[in-house]
Amino acid sequence: MNFRHAVSRPADADELADAVLNHLTFSIGKTTDTATLSDWRLALTHAIRDMVVAPWFDSVRQVYKEDRKRVYYLSMEFLIGRLLEDAIDNLGLGELARHAMEKHGIDWREVLDDEPDAALGNGGLGRLAACFLDSMSTVGLPAHGYGIRYDHGLFRQGFHDGWQVEEAEEWLRQAHPWEFQRREVQHRIGFGGSVRTTEGDAAEWEPEEVVIAAAYDTPVPGWGGRWTNTLRLWSAKPERLFELDRFNRGDFVGAAAPAILAQTISRVLYPDDTTPQGKELRLKQEYFFTAASIRDLLRRFVSDHKDLRELPNKVAIQLNDTHPAIAVAELVRLLIDRHGMSFDEAFEISRGTLHYTNHTLMPEALERWSWDLMSRVLPRHLQIIEKINRRHEQEFPDRPESTRIIDHGEIRMGNLAFVGSCKVNGVSALHTDLMKRTVFKDLHELHPERIVNVTNGVTPRRWINTCNGRLRDLLNETVGEGWITDLDKLERLRGHATQKSFQDALWDAKRINKASLSNWMLEHTGVGVDPDAMFDVQIKRIHEYKRQLLNILEAAALYNEIRDNPGKDWTPRVKLFGGKAAPGYQQAKLIIKLINDIGKKINEDPAIGDKLKIVFPPNYNVSMAERLIPAADLSEQISTAGMEASGTGNMKLSMNGALTVGTLDGANVEIREAVGPENIFIFGKTADEVNAMRDKGYDSRPAIEADERLARVITQIERGVFSPDDPGRFRAIGDTLRHHDWFMVTADFTSYWTVQRRIDDAWKDRRDWLRKSTINIAGMGRFSSDRSIKNYADYVWEAEYGF
Ligand SMILES: *Cc1c(COP(=O)(O)O)cnc(C)c1O
Repeated sequence: MNFRHAVSRPADADELADAVLNHLTFSIGKTTDTATLSDWRLALTHAIRDMVVAPWFDSVRQVYKEDRKRVYYLSMEFLIGRLLEDAIDNLGLGELARHAMEKHGIDWREVLDDEPDAALGNGGLGRLAACFLDSMSTVGLPAHGYGIRYDHGLFRQGFHDGWQVEEAEEWLRQAHPWEFQRREVQHRIGFGGSVRTTEGDAAEWEPEEVVIAAAYDTPVPGWGGRWTNTLRLWSAKPERLFELDRFNRGDFVGAAAPAILAQTISRVLYPDDTTPQGKELRLKQEYFFTAASIRDLLRRFVSDHKDLRELPNKVAIQLNDTHPAIAVAELVRLLIDRHGMSFDEAFEISRGTLHYTNHTLMPEALERWSWDLMSRVLPRHLQIIEKINRRHEQEFPDRPESTRIIDHGEIRMGNLAFVGSCKVNGVSALHTDLMKRTVFKDLHELHPERIVNVTNGVTPRRWINTCNGRLRDLLNETVGEGWITDLDKLERLRGHATQKSFQDALWDAKRINKASLSNWMLEHTGVGVDPDAMFDVQIKRIHEYKRQLLNILEAAALYNEIRDNPGKDWTPRVKLFGGKAAPGYQQAKLIIKLINDIGKKINEDPAIGDKLKIVFPPNYNVSMAERLIPAADLSEQISTAGMEASGTGNMKLSMNGALTVGTLDGANVEIREAVGPENIFIFGKTADEVNAMRDKGYDSRPAIEADERLARVITQIERGVFSPDDPGRFRAIGDTLRHHDWFMVTADFTSYWTVQRRIDDAWKDRRDWLRKSTINIAGMGRFSSDRSIKNYADYVWEAEYGF
């Protein structure tokens, strides 16, 4: 790039410090005397952003010039977290930036911690999309992420007296310096209205309501800044900002009402959809961002290609779950109604371009929209969906009912996505296998080539390099720096697994991370912990299938046991929990309260001391994950087998040297393969066993009667031992365990208890623990999201990557 003003890498810290001061003065408008910490952060961010822009233009230009196939990743969620440190590290400016800020007398960590955590997602699915963005740039794959620019991301979690309380999240309260608003990029998105058939297959849709999708672009620099892609997020704006005549009539509120209504669409992540209004808003959000994205990419395609029949050769669109599945109908609609194609031709092109990732086997989590709602909000799309459904039925006249797209007055978005996609993928080997055998069994038989597996991954840039500097340095010294972009290079660690000096260095790195986490927790939760104890970590959304309940029951049973045998040589443990419950999910919220109540009892019991502590810092998010994961010794991945599609927290923890205690679920199965069964602690029923037990109708009584520890804990919970202020508080939990234990907590308790005691013993053999830990890190190469992205590029998108 030969711009006169292209900002290149600063020669030294002085030069960067000057650039920061320049921005503080001319972009932020502050002097060094009046600047707040946020002002300094914004100034630094602008200085760093300047270095990203020219390479970003270069990447865009190169794709146009070479006419490479582009990938569009459509996701309702991008859980990107903070961006500054990641960008600095990807550009290799870590040391320089720290020194530059020191020259201004500004504390580096404080600057980084000042950045709001962009929580435009709920959990694993949104974080996956964020890791994929990093990897697509790092491997040099031309790609755009498309999503929604929510005004308010995931709620902030607080605890009041141990109960979860939710507060609105305000990540945009401060300037968001990474994004570029593209005022010229606007798409009109319609809802409702009527449809008039015109010629052939075509129709004219006259929407009743229109909002504007306005684009905001964030550059996504890959490792070394060699390639930069774009994350384009849509914000909903009114067609007319303001109704002057209403205002002049004195209706001041009414004058702004249409604008407020339009903006509602991108107001919040995941509106409560238990009300009809909430359901309608969610459908509108999905259509809003999908339609804007499809129109945007078609405009880009048409600008330098003549023939829309070339679309599947030049464009791959990935649907992250069913949230953007309306893309099937939207793309077909545009090809017919705007570009004059026949239905058959349009469908063929669309099906060659779209691909769908399934994330869950739980039938209640597969989206369905009522026919009535769809006909009211998207009448033309409903016609097209009906046509796709009929065509599929004509093609397969004997197709089973389960393959219908429209059934019992509902549109099944999973089936629409399946039928309308070229490839459909599961996210771990087990999950893909179960997909073929359960939710999509019949569709799989009709389309045996369509389902493929792409196991999830995580980016080692954020999840080792940036969040765990001590491990990063040790890895660099031991195997060289190549692992950052080729994680298989960690295999070389195997040769060091029993080497005393390496083990000691690994122990020291972890010990320092634990000590600093321990200080942070004391400050933020008031609970002090011993950094020499085993840090046993379960961090993820609170959900019954993830079984935080199993973990806390085991903790309570261990508490009983320690009180009964205080003199025994107990392995000291700190049990760490982190996670949010959906605001309407009562049972999950009750489990949070139970963890906090049991934790309080244990932590305050002087007879227990440092033998067992429970810590549950509120508001688990990406930044907290970055703090906890480097300090974890044990990773809890204990979902009911068959229910966790993949998990990615399991990969992050293992990469940072934690050993896994887990069920044979999701990617745990592949982690076991990678590290060997002797280096992972597997327990519990398998997916097939769980299904067989459910088919017979599981009765928890025998399991409870057979295990005194379990029986005792359940009785204690029911009698209010942990909630003396309200003894009946946890009745619902007792009832669930005794009478409808769908998630098999009681069935797996004994096996879980037993494996935990084996883990206590394993901890005492520190050398062997460190050997296991090393083997875990060494085996994580395949869980880099670079590998996932290359798999998608090779087997799903058929797109080239590289430099
Ligand atoms: C990785 C991650 C998740 C996913 O964790 P699982 O254990 O796979 O459910 C959720 N939230 C955050 C903040 C994460 O970083």
